[in-house]
Amino acid sequence: MIDERMVSELVELAQGARSNSYAPYSRYRVGAAVLAESGKVYTGANVENSSYGLSVCAERVAIWKAVSEGERRILAVAVATENGGTPCGACRQVMSEFGSGDMPVLIVDADGLKQRFRLDELLPEAFSGSDLLHDSEPG
Ligand SMILES: [Zn+2]
Repeated sequence: MIDERMVSELVELAQGARSNSYAPYSRYRVGAAVLAESGKVYTGANVENSSYGLSVCAERVAIWKAVSEGERRILAVAVATENGGTPCGACRQVMSEFGSGDMPVLIVDADGLKQRFRLDELLPEAFSGSDLLHDSEPG
């Protein structure tokens, strides 16, 4: 459980991260802030590419920054857009790799906190590493 002071901090950091968005094609600027288990917060912005399929969402940029710095558990995610859009399916799956089902996902618009979900509300019945059959035949 995160306190309201941390909620406010994540909201502000996600909104601030939008300014680093590279979105010349969609012009849909997104910022994210991720609270990791260590207590550190990592931010990210969406990064698009002229080869559209190579574009990466802000949430995944922030989570990958955290993981590549050694973090393995995330405790909360805030996602900021102009209109309070919710994370795409790919980002929900990546969140579930490192966050628990009851992890708060804070949806932020230009005015501030708009909605607050648990991850398992956004991604019920998530596929996880425990679904992999490690003892099955190789191949
Ligand atoms: Zn996404």
